[in-house]
Amino acid sequence: MLNIAFACPKCEQTTQATVSPETMELRCARCDYVLPSTTGALQEGKLTRCLCCGSPELFVRKDFSQRLGVAIIVVGFLISTIFWWNYMPLASYATLFATALLDLVLYFLVGNLLECYRCHAQYRGLPELEQYGPFSLEVHEKHRQQAIRLREAERSVPAKPGSP
Ligand SMILES: [Zn+2]
Ligand SMILES: [Zn+2]
Repeated sequence: MLNIAFACPKCEQTTQATVSPETMELRCARCDYVLPSTTGALQEGKLTRCLCCGSPELFVRKDFSQRLGVAIIVVGFLISTIFWWNYMPLASYATLFATALLDLVLYFLVGNLLECYRCHAQYRGLPELEQYGPFSLEVHEKHRQQAIRLREAERSVPAKPGSP
């Protein structure tokens, strides 16, 4: 079973869906919208393009939330500050060290996921993730520039006649 976290193009909410390899039907859990043309995206167990936006550019990354990593560091820092102010420098250092270690261990323990450069849909449960490329800053930059141009084009569309 393939689990996908994506932003629905219809209701624009972030949602999660499970897709079976047989049907490959991706349905939004919030508005029931079925994303078009997902058939054939999975070939011999390999995802050839993103099920949400159709982009063939996908990369593998750690299934580690940056926000969680930062939260652990912040909490560790707060606890160590409390020790510091209570004249327990050793406990203070130990807490800092332990939190950094915990972050590192978590990073190595978590699995990998596949992410789309263009729409940032995340795919979990795919076999053999080694066959996809790692993150490339170049490709990321390409998609970022494209998104900016797209937004600027939308903004420069002249207002409808008759509207204030
Ligand atoms: Zn939706
Ligand atoms: Zn995509």
